[in-house]
Amino acid sequence: MTPTTATALRDQEVVICGAGPTGLTLSILLSRFGIHHLVIDRRETMSGVPRARGINHRTGEIWQLLGLGHALRSATLPPEWLERMVYQETLAGPLIGTVETPGNLPGASSHLTPSDTYCISQDRTDALLAGRAATYREASFRFGTEFVGARQRTDGVDITVRTGAGEEHIRAAWLIGCDGTGSDVRAAAKIPQVRLATLDSFVNAHFVADLRRWTQNRPAGRRELLALSDQFRSRPRCPGQLDRGKGDGSNPEDDRSDRRRNALGRAPLLLSV
Ligand SMILES: Cc1cc2nc3c(=O)[nH]c(=O)nc-3n(C[C@H](O)[C@H](O)[C@H](O)COP(=O)(O)OP(=O)(O)OC[C@H]3O[C@@H](n4cnc5c(N)ncnc54)[C@H](O)[C@@H]3O)c2cc1C
Repeated sequence: MTPTTATALRDQEVVICGAGPTGLTLSILLSRFGIHHLVIDRRETMSGVPRARGINHRTGEIWQLLGLGHALRSATLPPEWLERMVYQETLAGPLIGTVETPGNLPGASSHLTPSDTYCISQDRTDALLAGRAATYREASFRFGTEFVGARQRTDGVDITVRTGAGEEHIRAAWLIGCDGTGSDVRAAAKIPQVRLATLDSFVNAHFVADLRRWTQNRPAGRRELLALSDQFRSRPRCPGQLDRGKGDGSNPEDDRSDRRRNALGRAPLLLSV
């Protein structure tokens, strides 16, 4: 899907704000019910940033129902890459520990669910969803179209968007906010966030490089590089919530935390557990 699939703004049955995984999944579902709709996104085109890589069973079940099962199985990492996570000081440096993750292997949960978990970067899953969403005549797409406000009517909603041509207006029966954590649609609907708005802060650096020299003999679905500079020692961090739960088995996170703790405990790391 590209911005060239643009459609004229006009009266719409449903407007979906946001062409991320939520908005695109909803688009496919609406199309399958024969409901015409417009998807808008302020980006000029789909995001190419990898972001989410772990696709859980429930998401897999839904996407499989939408006909994406074969594509997901083709795109996920091969089994030998799925069965463990590794912790290293640096990409080329010594191994700190591994956590076996057999539950990620194909068929591991086949007694519970028809879907596996998958390890696929989000730029690829977003493209899969976008490709499928664009096959339905019920769906139209407008990129470079930013939601800026909405006014409730008795029979629907007046939506204001900003495009390269300035502000434009759409009348719709329904407006659905799929515009991510900082949702402008939610703000316009005056729906407050009931939990902490910011849980933590991260800096992500996305680069493309051939790293096989360091990774091909140490396959892993997830690779944590634990920086050991003094700065990090003074504020020790490790993957997962190691201090979560009472350790009495009442918290399903405990088991994972124990496995991580065991893996990491072998390393000369200053950990606050
Ligand atoms: C580094 C990183 C790693 C991650 N890893 C995982 C993981 O392993 N597993 C996992 O489940 N999740 C992971 N996530 C989270 C995952 O990326 C998000 O949960 C997911 O993208 C949310 O999908 P969404 O469709 O709800 O929102 P988004 O993907 O944020 O999409 C929202 C869309 O709305 C558009 N939009 C926003 N505001 C407006 C507006 N005013 N007008 C028009 N359009 C607008 C945006 O341009 C965007 O395209 C990760 C995120 C990051 C950053």
